[in-house]
Amino acid sequence: MTSEATYFQKGFKLKAVVGPILAANYHSQVVEQLKAFGYAARAGDVRLRLAREFGFCYGVDRAVEYAYETRQQFPDKRLFLSGEIIHNPDVNGRMEAMGIIMLPDGRDPVLRYAEVQAEDVVIMPAFGVTVGEMQHLREKGCVLVDTTCGSVLNVWKNVHIYAREGFTSVIHGKHYHEETKATASQALTHPGGHYLCVRDRAEAQLVCDFILGRIGSAALRERFREAMSPGFDPDQHLQRIGLANQTTMLMSESMEIQELLRSAMRERWGEAELKDRFRAFDTICSATQDRQDAVGKMLEAGGLDVMVVIGGYNSSNTQALARLCSDRLPTYHISGPEGLQGEAIRYRPAGGHGEERRDGWLPGGPVSVGLTAGASTPNNVVGEVVEKLLALRGLGTDQLQQG
Ligand code: SF4
Repeated sequence: MTSEATYFQKGFKLKAVVGPILAANYHSQVVEQLKAFGYAARAGDVRLRLAREFGFCYGVDRAVEYAYETRQQFPDKRLFLSGEIIHNPDVNGRMEAMGIIMLPDGRDPVLRYAEVQAEDVVIMPAFGVTVGEMQHLREKGCVLVDTTCGSVLNVWKNVHIYAREGFTSVIHGKHYHEETKATASQALTHPGGHYLCVRDRAEAQLVCDFILGRIGSAALRERFREAMSPGFDPDQHLQRIGLANQTTMLMSESMEIQELLRSAMRERWGEAELKDRFRAFDTICSATQDRQDAVGKMLEAGGLDVMVVIGGYNSSNTQALARLCSDRLPTYHISGPEGLQGEAIRYRPAGGHGEERRDGWLPGGPVSVGLTAGASTPNNVVGEVVEKLLALRGLGTDQLQQG
């Protein structure tokens, strides 16, 4: 088989076949009703406000559809997924129910794909895989279904330009996140290409401190040892930097980090040299930005008592939404309806780790609840949360009305 016949990036034109299956799995009548009510509804003394942009983004929609199409196209082949297709337990559970085998995370492609044979099919997720993994899979000769989102490919394009022109990519992202690992690996495809991943403002400040001579290279290397390219030498490789983002980070933080580093480079090298030493590119994707903007507008409008943010605990963009909300009001990031347990809620604290439980989280009497969901959360999960939430007050979705 030629490599053309084993690499698919545009699905299999089976939308008509998988469309009804996708609708049956992920559609929610309750969510459609909330939208029809102008994203504002009430039942009894519960007011619900749904963010105007929430849930599945275009990249996730496409990746999930291609996975279903792949199952149809290759009914008799073994299907593997390079890790979770998206960070949502409900969707991943449905993939497994279709017989798709989810491979564990791992840095070494040889170990990670040990089970995969030439006659198998591997689906790559919306956030992409590393250059090393892609090469390894191509050498195996198996069928590859690549669902990498166009917005992620756009980030890669910028990282390539940086590396080609001698700029180190400073990536605002989590160095252990699949997307950031894949993006970082692109920088290494050019001779002398390097990267450094900064997770947040505090880490960006450390990089600024190094640029301005306040800390030494040993301290920087120690702090970022897991988050920098092999052979990274801060003295040499932070002289010319280009910024990129994991597409799902908090937009406001990415902009702050950009400004911090721009100022540090200006102070270190002077205004005249800045254009040859600093580049920035906003690579937060539009879907992430739209969801953050929508929740921002909802918070601005005020009147909410509590916010429920729905999405996988390891979903970066859901975490970013929860962080935005938690600055303003009590916020609970739940992975799905199972987070609501009688009077208690099981949630991931914004900016924290693990799961906590709180009793009596929903104030008694009239209450206004804001709702949003990350880009990897399907509507059926949002609808089930609404149903369970109303049931806490002995209400049903049939009692919902506009308002
Ligand atoms: S969050 Fe953005 S980059 Fe990621 S899959 Fe969705 S649209 Fe693509």
